[in-house]
Amino acid sequence: MTYDVDLFVIGGGSGGVRAARIAAGYGASVMIAEEYRMGGTCVIRGCVPKKLYVYASRFADDFQDAAGFGWSFPEKPVFDWPSLVAAKEKEISRLSLIYANNLAKAGVQIVETRAEIIDANTVELKRDGRRIRAKKILVATGGTPVLEPAIPGVEHMISSNEIFDLPEFPRRLLVIGGGYIAVEFASVFARLGAKVTLAFRGENVLRGFDEDMREGLRVELRHAGIAILPATLPTGLDRRADGLAVTFSDDETRVFDQVLVATGRRPHTQGLGLENAGVAVDQVGAIKVDARSRTNVASIFAVGDVTNRVNLTPVAIREGHAFADTQFGGKDIAVVYTDIATAVFTTPEIGTVGMSEAEARAIFDIVDIYRASFRPMKATLSGHPEKTIMKIVVDGQTDQVLGVHILGHEAGEMAQLLGIAVRMKATKADFDATMAVHPTAAEELVTMRTRQARYEKAPLMAGAGSIAAL
Ligand code: NDP
Repeated sequence: MTYDVDLFVIGGGSGGVRAARIAAGYGASVMIAEEYRMGGTCVIRGCVPKKLYVYASRFADDFQDAAGFGWSFPEKPVFDWPSLVAAKEKEISRLSLIYANNLAKAGVQIVETRAEIIDANTVELKRDGRRIRAKKILVATGGTPVLEPAIPGVEHMISSNEIFDLPEFPRRLLVIGGGYIAVEFASVFARLGAKVTLAFRGENVLRGFDEDMREGLRVELRHAGIAILPATLPTGLDRRADGLAVTFSDDETRVFDQVLVATGRRPHTQGLGLENAGVAVDQVGAIKVDARSRTNVASIFAVGDVTNRVNLTPVAIREGHAFADTQFGGKDIAVVYTDIATAVFTTPEIGTVGMSEAEARAIFDIVDIYRASFRPMKATLSGHPEKTIMKIVVDGQTDQVLGVHILGHEAGEMAQLLGIAVRMKATKADFDATMAVHPTAAEELVTMRTRQARYEKAPLMAGAGSIAAL
């Protein structure tokens, strides 16, 4: 059978671009289709613009903190939203072009169109109806925001796709959800000058994170002036002359300029033609794959958020790279998903790697907790009320560090380096033996000597069948 290309990649985001480039480097003929802008969610309307907005927002703290260090401003600093949007746009356009150029340099053909799978080896380019025969097809179409809860008036809400480019700065912003996206945007917009309300269905933000981080962040969000409504969700939304009137489950009605819904993302599999080739998906629409990103159809593969494994850009990149190495580079590489360091870019940030206290206590017989909570040095003169929290979770039997969690400035940067130590199975004794860098916040990680708590699983009572922490 003859093919037009060795590999056809659907989706020009982090995972797809990496796979295309590496496969081409191994000599494969590769075509990649992207219907929107090269770079995908992370570059165009995710991690990258978000981090730029985080930087913008932190000047608010800097201007305030500066007074404690002798600075004064003759006039109050003024923030201009259109200037930030334009500067962001310039930067992501530059990055998108770099992505396209790198692909072209690697010999990858780029087609700017939506692509649909026709059968196990055929893809149709929707722009002109051209059909491409491909030996292998990689689906890397990412995810899309869900607009839930589906209340009356949901069409007036915006998602993280729209918030970056709002024509007007939202003075009154409601954020629905308590996950990564919700807390990050709440933190950003509160600093840029919006009156932010954060409403979510649970008791606290960031379900699944270590409890000390969740509680600490909630306090910091309050310091930033964010109104927090736990266990509260909107029940209806109406556009009125004075703004968007939102009724809530607490029977209150509050009025906003914009309502951002951040209640999760869903794999982007609709309209891809997966059913034409019989590709299996799970109940949320994610493409089912094995450890080598293979679907149930021998010629079709999938990487990144569309597979709903660990929905993070560096993971998609790893999966794309491993796919190309395995399918075109004569290697056999499976991605390892344990101990993935991650950061939440609130102010202050959360940086985390490994197990939370709760996870560790559910698995290990003896768990030791080391914890420090302190005012960062800068706050002594600035007068800022914030606290840095650091926590180390240790296997009490082997002394291995199971998890490290930080709420504080540059916690994301620290998490990246801690990821190496945790992956190398460093022990608490290794941390203790490491010389401190003084004066830093991070030195606390190697100077925390006093165990704060030890949890031992209760021995199983005959017939009881349950485990209780002492
Ligand atoms: P998350 O899964 O992190 O959070 C979703 C939030 O919405 C949770 O608070 C959840 O509540 C709530 N929720 C879910 N469904 C409903 C519903 N039907 N009604 C009301 N509330 C609901 O999703 P995000 O949208 O914040 O982020 C999507 C993904 O993007 C994340 O999984 C993350 O991997 C990635 N991301 C990573 C970032 C980073 O690395 N810094 C930044 C931004 C995104 P509950 O907890 O009760 O389930």
